[in-house]
Amino acid sequence: MRTSEVNMAAAETDRELPSALCSEFLNFSAKDTAAKWLQATDLPNEVYQHLARYVPKIYCLGPNLNPQSEDLLAQLLLQAPLEWYLCGEEPSVGLAKLEQSNQPSQLCGHVFKVGEPTYSCRECAADPTCVLCMQCFLGSVHKEHRYRMTTSGGGGFCDCGDTEAWKKGPYCQKHEPNISDSSQEDPLANLSADMIARTYNIFSIMLRYAVDMLTWDKEEELPQGLEPPERGDTYYCMLFNDEVHTYEQVIYTLQKAVNCTQKEAVSFATTVDRDGRKSVRYGDFQFCEQAKSVIVRNTSRQSKPLRVQVMHSSVVAHQCFALKALTWFSHVIRYSDALRRILCQVGLQKGPEGENSLVDTLMLCDSKMWKGARNVYHQLVMSSLLMDLKYKKLFAIQFAKHYERLQSDYVKDDHDREFSITDLSVQMFTVPSLARMLITEENLLTTIIRTFVDHLRHRDLQGRFQFERYTAQQAFKFRRVQSLLGDLKYVLISRPTEWTDKLREKFLEGLDAFLELMKCMQGMDPVVRQVGQHIEMEPEWEAAFTLQMKLTHIISMMQEWCGSDERVLIEAYKKCLTALTHCHSGFADGEQPITLSMCGHSVDTIRYCISQEKVSIHLPVSRLLAGLHVLLSKSEVAYRFPEQLPLSELSPPMLIEHPLRCLVLCAQVHAGMWRRNGFSLVNQIYYYHNVKCRVEMFDKDLMMLQVGASMMDPNHFLMILLSRFELFHIFSSADCRKRYNRESANKDVVQQNSTLIEEMLHLIMMVVGERFVAGVGQVDSWDELKREIIHQLCIRPMAHSELVKALPENENKETGMEKVIDSVASFKKPGVTGRGLYELRPESAKQFNLYFHHYSRADQSKAEEAQRKLKRQNGEDSALPPPVLPPLCPLFASLVNILQCDVLLGMLGAVLQWATEPSGGHWSESMLQRVLHLIGMALLEEQQQLEGAVDHSEVTFNFTLKISRPGEAPSNTPSILAVLETLQNAPHLEVHKDMIRWTLQTVASIKTTRERTAAAPPPERAGGCQEETVRDKDKAERKRKAEMARLRREKIMAQMSEMQRHFINENKELFQQSLEELDASTSTALEHSPSSWDSVLVCVGPRRWRAGGGERRQVVTCILCQEEQEIRADGRAMVLAAFIQRSTVMSKNRKRPPHDPESYDPLFMHPDLSFGTHTGSCGHIMHSHCWQRYFEAVQAKEQRRQQRLRVHTSYDVENGEFLCPLCECLSNTVIPLLPLTKTSCSEQPGVMQWLSTTSQQIRVLHSAHRRAKATSAAETGDGESMETHPLPEGFRLDHTPVNPYSSSIKEMLTTFGTATYKVGLKVHPNEQDPRVPIMCWASCAYTIQSVERLLVDEDKPLFGSLPCRQDDCLSSLARFGSACWTVSSLAAVQSHFIRLMAVLLPDPQVENSPCILHVDMFHLLVSLVLSYPAVHCQDSSGLSIDVAQLHLLHLVTVAHLVQILLTSVQVELTMEQESGGVEEEEEESVCLLYNTLRSHLGSALREVSSGWHLWRTVRLGILPFLRGAALFFHHLHGVPTPPELSGNPSASSRPPSLPLRTPCQNPGGARPTCLMAFSPAPLAPGVGEWEMVCAYLSLPSNLLQLFYNHQELLQPLLQGWCSHPSLRQCLRSPETLIRFPRESNKLIELPEDYSALINQASSFTCPKSGGDKSRAPTLCLVCGTMLCSQSYCCQTELEGEDVGACTAHTFACGSGVGIFLRVRESQVLFLAGKTKGCFYAPPYLDDYGETDQGLRRGNPLHLCRERYRKIQKLWRQHSITEEIGHAQEANQTLVGIDWQHL
Ligand SMILES: [Zn+2]
Ligand SMILES: [Zn+2]
Ligand SMILES: [Zn+2]
Ligand SMILES: [Zn+2]
Ligand SMILES: [Zn+2]
Ligand SMILES: [Zn+2]
Ligand SMILES: [Zn+2]
Repeated sequence: MRTSEVNMAAAETDRELPSALCSEFLNFSAKDTAAKWLQATDLPNEVYQHLARYVPKIYCLGPNLNPQSEDLLAQLLLQAPLEWYLCGEEPSVGLAKLEQSNQPSQLCGHVFKVGEPTYSCRECAADPTCVLCMQCFLGSVHKEHRYRMTTSGGGGFCDCGDTEAWKKGPYCQKHEPNISDSSQEDPLANLSADMIARTYNIFSIMLRYAVDMLTWDKEEELPQGLEPPERGDTYYCMLFNDEVHTYEQVIYTLQKAVNCTQKEAVSFATTVDRDGRKSVRYGDFQFCEQAKSVIVRNTSRQSKPLRVQVMHSSVVAHQCFALKALTWFSHVIRYSDALRRILCQVGLQKGPEGENSLVDTLMLCDSKMWKGARNVYHQLVMSSLLMDLKYKKLFAIQFAKHYERLQSDYVKDDHDREFSITDLSVQMFTVPSLARMLITEENLLTTIIRTFVDHLRHRDLQGRFQFERYTAQQAFKFRRVQSLLGDLKYVLISRPTEWTDKLREKFLEGLDAFLELMKCMQGMDPVVRQVGQHIEMEPEWEAAFTLQMKLTHIISMMQEWCGSDERVLIEAYKKCLTALTHCHSGFADGEQPITLSMCGHSVDTIRYCISQEKVSIHLPVSRLLAGLHVLLSKSEVAYRFPEQLPLSELSPPMLIEHPLRCLVLCAQVHAGMWRRNGFSLVNQIYYYHNVKCRVEMFDKDLMMLQVGASMMDPNHFLMILLSRFELFHIFSSADCRKRYNRESANKDVVQQNSTLIEEMLHLIMMVVGERFVAGVGQVDSWDELKREIIHQLCIRPMAHSELVKALPENENKETGMEKVIDSVASFKKPGVTGRGLYELRPESAKQFNLYFHHYSRADQSKAEEAQRKLKRQNGEDSALPPPVLPPLCPLFASLVNILQCDVLLGMLGAVLQWATEPSGGHWSESMLQRVLHLIGMALLEEQQQLEGAVDHSEVTFNFTLKISRPGEAPSNTPSILAVLETLQNAPHLEVHKDMIRWTLQTVASIKTTRERTAAAPPPERAGGCQEETVRDKDKAERKRKAEMARLRREKIMAQMSEMQRHFINENKELFQQSLEELDASTSTALEHSPSSWDSVLVCVGPRRWRAGGGERRQVVTCILCQEEQEIRADGRAMVLAAFIQRSTVMSKNRKRPPHDPESYDPLFMHPDLSFGTHTGSCGHIMHSHCWQRYFEAVQAKEQRRQQRLRVHTSYDVENGEFLCPLCECLSNTVIPLLPLTKTSCSEQPGVMQWLSTTSQQIRVLHSAHRRAKATSAAETGDGESMETHPLPEGFRLDHTPVNPYSSSIKEMLTTFGTATYKVGLKVHPNEQDPRVPIMCWASCAYTIQSVERLLVDEDKPLFGSLPCRQDDCLSSLARFGSACWTVSSLAAVQSHFIRLMAVLLPDPQVENSPCILHVDMFHLLVSLVLSYPAVHCQDSSGLSIDVAQLHLLHLVTVAHLVQILLTSVQVELTMEQESGGVEEEEEESVCLLYNTLRSHLGSALREVSSGWHLWRTVRLGILPFLRGAALFFHHLHGVPTPPELSGNPSASSRPPSLPLRTPCQNPGGARPTCLMAFSPAPLAPGVGEWEMVCAYLSLPSNLLQLFYNHQELLQPLLQGWCSHPSLRQCLRSPETLIRFPRESNKLIELPEDYSALINQASSFTCPKSGGDKSRAPTLCLVCGTMLCSQSYCCQTELEGEDVGACTAHTFACGSGVGIFLRVRESQVLFLAGKTKGCFYAPPYLDDYGETDQGLRRGNPLHLCRERYRKIQKLWRQHSITEEIGHAQEANQTLVGIDWQHL
């Protein structure tokens, strides 16, 4: 109703509009108007009058705006005169001329839509903001490079043609400049002066008009000259967007305020969000004002109210046209660069008295405009000012001049940055030449930094930032102001190659401002150790770290700028030092001077207890200085201009003081001393070391220690270190080697000190050993990176993305790892799951350093374990000695002396001495390990120096000598070497033995080298040889042990498997024996004995194989109570957990509307299989009562849980769902297990006789049913004599069969039947409904059909390849099907049988019998066979049920043959015929049958000449049916399968794969509509299968014999089928005709390159909101429909609930189950029902074998076919729901998602 009303209203306005203005509009001439304007003296006034008159007549005439007619009128009445005036002739001619003479610039400038793919080249782009559109990218050189793909957030344009954006290949093929490049020429040169003047005039007037109107803030009046001639009382109530109120609030408020429906409110809210404003009411002033007050009142409670204005319609009208005018500008300037330049000129022209230009005015009002207006003018700026290189520069200058004001406006505004003019900064600041110009001319660097600092007002007494006191409002501002740092980054991205004096001056000025910012951060958020009780409130720390993180790249870039010019570097170093000195004067609390002495050295320092005083993690000034200092070394400025540097002013202790405190803080936190300070400190320490921050935090602190230590006496440095670690007292006492372990201090303190000593030793290692920064050590940046990668891979093999995450990125988001990764690692490809991994090359493992400074403790222990394991595998000893290090740079060279200084030796000696006592308790294993490592480092240093020196006596580094000397104090203590030798044999140090041995060997080898030089230089190997023999012996011993262990293991395994085999054999025999004894009496003579297996196996009919008593017996174990139970009809019921679902997997018609569940008659399945019911099972068996008890427990638990907390589970208990108690597989019912029925067979009638008997029985049943109906319906009984039929012999109507099943089995029969009915039809359970058995049979047929398809698709043999759980499931389904009638109404099942028979045997008493083209024959067969027992049970003539089954099979097969012949020859047959057919008999008879059909149907069938083709068509078409039938009877009767059909290679020489290939699977299938478009070769191996299946089914291999052997019976039937009234009509509509074989459904084809999908999605618009871009375009992988997901606009109502587009689509396309690809996220979505869903890995991988869910990394993605096939398989085998269940069980957060809203 409502929609038609709206349409009516729209139609009315349509009609009204032209009629009211008709005459006036018809008389209008644009040409004349333009001519009048040409004569005008006051043109602006003339144009304004025109606008004043017409605009209000075109726009805003009613409540419903009508954009189409408005735009049309605006074009005719408003734009046309402008264009006439501009061109001076017919606009289409004039503009075409302009376009022809235009010489377009080389810039592409394509503006990106939201979600459009953009490409950047990792190798050539100047910075990551440089992007190409897809078109340009495909035509560029970068296609072959390492590129990056992202989706645009909208806005921004293609940088193709911008030479500054690309280091290489700036042009694509399309934008390649011509040789006669005229870009330097003035574009205006081609235009006549007249034209220039006219353009100038009209552009100035119209741009002024647009700017005036868009920035207009009065609601009633209009600018001078625009007042409307007449003025009505018509107003709009205009609602504006804000980012404060939620969708829900707005929708709720609108419903109240303007009394609209929820749908309308949603639509209003959507528009407001998109365009920034929307009129919600139209009418007189009072009417609108009323709505306004309601809205304001309703939204002002918690926050500031929604902005609402009541505006006069003429104001709104002019604003509408103003927007239109801007669009018109972008349209017109596209024709000519000259017009564009004039527009730029007009826009930037200042007023006569230097007033702001029009563009300035727009920018300054930016934050006051609504979203829609901003978007339109930003777009115009982009397509005009930013596309003209001259004006881009001028615009950039204006932008920079207003920068501070614009940013402040933005910070106060609440719209996202993409809607702000400030967002254009990226377009200018990233252009290196512009950025440089803005820095020098407009002092941009300083402006940005100052503006930023100005916005952070809260400071403490020392002037440092204080974020703790921020209110929510200020925090919000802080977030917005961070975008300024983005601008700063843009400006700095490209380093200058040449410096001018002006640039130096302005950069250093910027650096001053930057240092001011750093100073505000130095020492912020200080912490004090909490003692006694835990802190009460976690202090705020995130803001400071956010700032630090955002600044990290900027600080690095600042250093790079400094490093690129010597003069700048020197000046910067001085400035930074001054700043640091200034900072230090700020905080000096807690510092008292003291003197420390130890090992004969003493130093003056201060006392500072980090565990008691304030300490801060934020030290950016110190760290900047450290960075600059290393640059001095790297650039060698330090050696070349020492006189210009303030080196003498440096005070090393001052430099190291604060970084050292910070490092000690970390050590103390590790030692557990700061536990009471809570998580905020833990988090800070975490980030301090984290890869995102460490470059400008931890790394630089370490560097500063290296700087300081390199300028100090190493003993002094170590003493200060000891003092800050609060460990000085332990090592300084004269007898520290002894005293410490006697000290019986508090256990906690001992533990703490142990950790602190470990940490301190580690720090010393790092200070001496971390030389992989260029400037510290003699390395380059690749060495540094290589080392990082090696150490990551030493932990374990890693995926590309893991490695990227572990490495620091630069400002270009690059880690540089591509350049080195291949030199250290090899790549291992992924399989169907998992991802590609990089593995370390063995030779690179030599560089492994256990104490790598970027390892966390966890990393370290993992790496240690992995490396030791590796060494053991290679048969080496497990020592992990330090690696050989690169030499230090001269400035840092003195660091090595730390290794041999007295204080360190004292410390080493002490720890070693402690370790001699096994139970000392005051030393730790890791302490000892670190000491050994330090000794190792020193030894390697000495060895290296010896190798490098010519004369060994010159080498002053003599560690071996020092450790050989006995200790000095107290005297007579043993030397370090001696202690080591003692430790070598200490049993408690077994783990360190290898390392100690390595140490002693190295000492020996160094000594030899030194001695050798004293004498003559002997051969190198002397020491090595001995060493080697020792090692060899060791290795051999290890190998021998490993070999013995292996042998022992193997022996045990062999013993065990032997025992197992034995056990099974023994028990099997026992088992069989007892069964045979038991059953000997029950077996009858008629049963085939199992010994006749070698004769042909038959699964149906009187000759079928019958199970002997023993084989029939089946014993199973209940998974719940573990009891064994035999399956018997009269026994306790055993059940299988099962899951029933509706399915469209095999559907050939997804357009069929869902049936009405209440009235639908499911008896006949249409051959399009559009909806089916699938049953699956995990195969786990339980007692029915055990299951019931389990399920009740689940229900009770669920109820309790729901009362407590409303969390969802992955399964819906209320709907009968549960998880299998063993495997947690989702289930919703159980299938009872039934025994095989015992049958026998005697002399049996042929098909003729059987059919006549059955017809008689049917007639009798007909009248019996009618009688029963009559008596029950009409009690009166008018006594009309029913015709009575003679009862066939032995048929007893009054006989009520005895139900053979126990009550528990009966109960389960009902349970499963009802569940199938409930799920299959989506109705409420009703066990009385006559459709219950039908649904069971249908599910059995559908499930078998889908299994048959799956086997073909997977190239598996028919039997033997299914997992047992599926075999069990099919058997119980088939047997259940044949038993389910026993719990239904007998009459109902009988009448089902009668109606089913009527399809084959036309029966005048059955109405509406379908024609055979409308029936799926397999469903018919299964239903007939399974319903027949209901008729048979009243027959006591001895007729065998087996005979009936065989006859039914024959009849249905013939019907199917006919069906195939009728449908398939509609297709053109193009295949070449094989000559010399071996099946001539078949070919002849099939032709004969076809011609018989033609004689009935005439021209409806084409003439066919070749029997060869026809026979093959029939064979291909019917094979799936026969295979299905074989599966069905096999499971129904438990008949063994012939080995030839089981793909058992020993039994069959044929390959197990099936020959069936549908054309689409055929790679060369160029003729996809032809069923036979393949070479006949593949058919050959199938011949065997064909014969085997036919024989198994007791069918002749020439199927046509079925027909010809009983022609007299079948001819009339054939005639009957052909004369069915709807048959001819069917044949006449070949497009809906189903042909056989039905091809398996596949998921849609996906493009190879993922960007093709992104592109497709970016042009997809929401189908409901008129051309809007969809936010979450989602592709249905089943049918290929693109949907607008996860959005209000596309929500629809489904069963009384609002659901998203995907869920809604799922119900039509997949009957509840859906598989989607979320294109923007690169993520597969599985949905099932309204509440279930999960995400799944997409089938797209990057070159590193990884998916990119969320498209975060941007590597090019390509389709991985194996993975896509895997998803397809999940779908085909109906496992999607199960997959969701498992995913949700594994990840509980998935359960909480509102899947139905997607
Ligand atoms: Zn482009
Ligand atoms: Zn291009
Ligand atoms: Zn490139
Ligand atoms: Zn049990
Ligand atoms: Zn299970
Ligand atoms: Zn679909
Ligand atoms: Zn939508």
